[in-house]
Amino acid sequence: MTSVSTKTNLLNLAPPQMAQFFVGLGEKRFRAEQMLKWIYHRQATSFSQMTDVGKDLRTRLEAVAELRPPTVRHEQISDDGTIKWVLEVAGGSAIETVFIPEANRGTLCVSSQVGCALNCSFCSTGKQGFNRNLSVAEIIGQVWVAAQRLGSVHRDTCLSQRRISNVVMMGMGEPLLNFDNVTAAMDLMRDDLGFGLANRRVTLSTAGLVPAIDALAERCDVSLAVSLHAPNDALREQLVPLNKKYPIHELLAACQRYQAKRPRSSITFEYTLMKGVNDHPEHARALVKLLRKLPSKLNLIPFNPFPGTEYQRSEPAVIEAFKQIVMQSGLIATVRRTRGDDIDAACGQLVGQVLDRTRRSRDHQAKLEARAHAA
Ligand code: SAH
Repeated sequence: MTSVSTKTNLLNLAPPQMAQFFVGLGEKRFRAEQMLKWIYHRQATSFSQMTDVGKDLRTRLEAVAELRPPTVRHEQISDDGTIKWVLEVAGGSAIETVFIPEANRGTLCVSSQVGCALNCSFCSTGKQGFNRNLSVAEIIGQVWVAAQRLGSVHRDTCLSQRRISNVVMMGMGEPLLNFDNVTAAMDLMRDDLGFGLANRRVTLSTAGLVPAIDALAERCDVSLAVSLHAPNDALREQLVPLNKKYPIHELLAACQRYQAKRPRSSITFEYTLMKGVNDHPEHARALVKLLRKLPSKLNLIPFNPFPGTEYQRSEPAVIEAFKQIVMQSGLIATVRRTRGDDIDAACGQLVGQVLDRTRRSRDHQAKLEARAHAA
C-alpha cells in the first residue's frame, strides 16, 4: 500500500503551478524551470541529484516536497514488443499503461481514471467499475515511468523505437471526465520544459462528452479521437450508454465546432468492429453518410475479447469489406493492428486493479463465476 504523504508532489504541478510553488517558498521563478528540467529532461528521482540547486534550498525542498511517480508493480513484454506496466497508485489500486513500438514511432497509451464510469458494453475497463480520477502526477507519471523504463529495457533496439513519440489518452477511463488533471498533464507532455511533444502527437480519446469537447477546444490544441462504434442512435445506445445523453447528431456538431476552433487538429473516429453487431455493409454506408461533411479519419478496431464478453471479433474479410466501402466514399479508413493481446494490453483489455469497486463490477464478477460453475 502506498503511504499517504502531506508533502507537495512536484509531479502534480504544471509550469504555472510550479512557478507559484517556488514564489510561495520565497524563491525566484527560474527555479520552476530548473525543477521541470530536472524532473522531465533528466528524470531526477531525488533533490540530492540537483547539483545546480543550492544546498539550503534542497534541504527545504526535502521537507515540503517530493518527486513521486506511480510505482511499477509488473512489467510485461509482449511477443510483438508491446510493453504493459501495471502501476500502483495511492490507495492501493492499480492502473495500466502500454507502450506500442513501431518502425517509425513509439506510442504510449495512458490511463486517466482508476476504472471507468461509462460502462460501454464491449469494454472490459467498464466492467471493473469506477474508483476515482487520477491526479496530474499519476497521469504524467505514467509517461515519466515509461520514459525511464524504456531507457533500461530494449537496449538492443534503435533509439527511434525506444523513444515515446506519441501519447494517446486511450487507457483506462474517460479522460474528459477528469478534465482539469488530464489537460494539465497534457500541458506537461507538450511543454518544452516537460516532454516537448508536438500538439498533434498528443491525442485525447472520448466516448463523446459533448460539453467537455467544447471546453477542450477552448483549453488546448491536441488531436481528438471520438469513439463512435455505430452509425445510428439505437445501436450506439446499446454499445455506449452515454449516447442517451449526447446522441450522435449532437456529438458530430461538437466535433464540427472543435474543428472550426482548431482547424489544424484532425479528428479520428474509432469504430470497434463486432461480429454481427455493427459490421454489416449497411452500417458502413450509413457511417459514410454521417461523416461525409466532416473532414475526418476512421480508425477501425477489430474487437478484442475479454473474459465474460458476449461479443466476438468480426472476420478479417468482413473488416476489409467494411473498410473498402468507407474508402470508396473518399474517407480515409485504417484498421488498427492488434498489438499486445497476448499480455491483455490491447484496446479495451486494460483492467488494472480497481479497489472499492462499484456494484457493476461485482455483478460482472458474479456472472463470470456463475458461468464457471455451469461449465
Ligand atoms: N473512454 C475513452 C478512452 C478509451 S480509448 C473512449 O471511449 O474513447 C479505448 C478505445 O478502445 C475506445 O475507442 C474504446 O471504445 C475501444 N475499445 C474498448 N473496448 C474494446 C474492445 N474490447 N475491443 C476493441 N476496442 C475496444
